[in-house]
Amino acid sequence: MELRQISPYCYEIPRTGNMRVPGRIFMNHRMATQLAEEEALKQVANVATLPGILTASMAMPDMHWGYGFPIGGVAAFDWNDGVISPGGVGYDINCGVRLAATGLEEKEIRPVTGRLVQALFENIPTGVGSTGSLKLSLKEEMKVLREGGRWAVRQGMGDPSDVECTEDGGCMDVADPSVVSSRALERGTKQLGTLGSGNHFLEVGVVDEIFDEATATAFGLSENQVTVLLHSGSRGLGYQICDDSLAFMNKHVKTLGIALPDRQLACAMIRSAAGERYFSAMACAANYAWANRQILLHRARETFQQVLGIGPRELAMHQVYDICHNIAKRETHTVDGKPKTVCVHRKGATRAFAPGHPAICEAYRHVGQPILIPGDMGTASYVLVGTQKAMDETFGSTCHGAGRVLSRKAAKKKSKGRAIHRELADKGILVKWTGRSTLAEEMPDAYKDIDQVVESVHGAGISKKVARLRPIVVIKG
Ligand code: 5GP
Ligand code: MN
Ligand code: MN
Repeated sequence: MELRQISPYCYEIPRTGNMRVPGRIFMNHRMATQLAEEEALKQVANVATLPGILTASMAMPDMHWGYGFPIGGVAAFDWNDGVISPGGVGYDINCGVRLAATGLEEKEIRPVTGRLVQALFENIPTGVGSTGSLKLSLKEEMKVLREGGRWAVRQGMGDPSDVECTEDGGCMDVADPSVVSSRALERGTKQLGTLGSGNHFLEVGVVDEIFDEATATAFGLSENQVTVLLHSGSRGLGYQICDDSLAFMNKHVKTLGIALPDRQLACAMIRSAAGERYFSAMACAANYAWANRQILLHRARETFQQVLGIGPRELAMHQVYDICHNIAKRETHTVDGKPKTVCVHRKGATRAFAPGHPAICEAYRHVGQPILIPGDMGTASYVLVGTQKAMDETFGSTCHGAGRVLSRKAAKKKSKGRAIHRELADKGILVKWTGRSTLAEEMPDAYKDIDQVVESVHGAGISKKVARLRPIVVIKG
């Protein structure tokens, strides 16, 4: 695939064949020279052929192969004559990340990390099909799908300020539970408040370095502060909604006469019954995911209080933010100098709205939207902030993580003969996990270098570095 450098941090796949727009990959020179993502680049070009795509089919430096659309992909479509595609959102609808900061410093929890990792592991269900202590009635589940994070807070599992500091206030109001299949509903009844499998995690960390003091202060972050970072999504319910939607769209797309370069790009016009149906179902899964992460945060708060023998005041665990990285959104962006309603697909990509944007909660509006970027369990994670350049160049979007560099199989092979948990313990990181191959598949070597990924988006100006977090306790699915 031909890649042409068009600016210091941006590379273009020129328009050829049926591409309606070019492809654009944001990364630094070092990542560009090491890029071995031929399949994912092909996917960027494929997405560029879809009807209604605007400006460019984009990918972030954490890009790698995904179902149809690449992970790390951003694609915006004209709301009036563009498409919406389940493959552009991903199977784990509203998979995302939540960060909370505490009133504790590292030295206060160092003596109890062993008990903390054990208690978190006991209180938070982990693993592929794990179920929680909540069992929802169908009536209650409908409320979760309609209300998202607010539902959990109403049940006493969190604080109203948690929801305020959540993307979209933890609820997409287009959610319509009547379009969700009974199979999906059934899978959702027992999994609320569970973490899920391997790549999902709950991590206790420490603010290791601050890059932007004023913004960090606005987010309530300071050096040496203990944090909780968690990554989970919409569990079996979201997966089933994606699966149901793909089955339907595969047939539907044939009636549209669109020449798809890959059948995994099955889609519908946004403004059609089929498109609206998917969008409403997707929003239900998004709301479920927000309720899920809200409950996980609540469990983390309870566990800290229990292990440290302190109350909520002393713990002072406040939510910094919660961000989606598998979602399609209706947003207004300036295209060719004019405001336009678009459907932005962010798949393994996050929102990065600039200071002043009305969608940002009031507390942060003056500095910009917080962005949460997990790295890996042995290295670091980052907090960034959104910029005007992201609004101008990437439909207000940036990367979502380090991104895989080794397949799960390749990671397992590379881990042969090593004791990953001991390697982590030597670095002062305690980890507990459920899946038999989780640690091998998720070892730091399986992911790209997070420092390089973040340097790329910071250099490109589509988000700015605020703080770096270092892990100390990790639980994995
Ligand atoms: P995804 O949703 O694409 O599976 O993963 C999001 C990102 O989370 C990955 O690209 C990776 O960089 C990061 N990640 C995966 N596992 C861990 C972990 O245990 N701890 C941290 N801090 N990051 C992780
Ligand atoms: Mn994810
Ligand atoms: Mn996920």
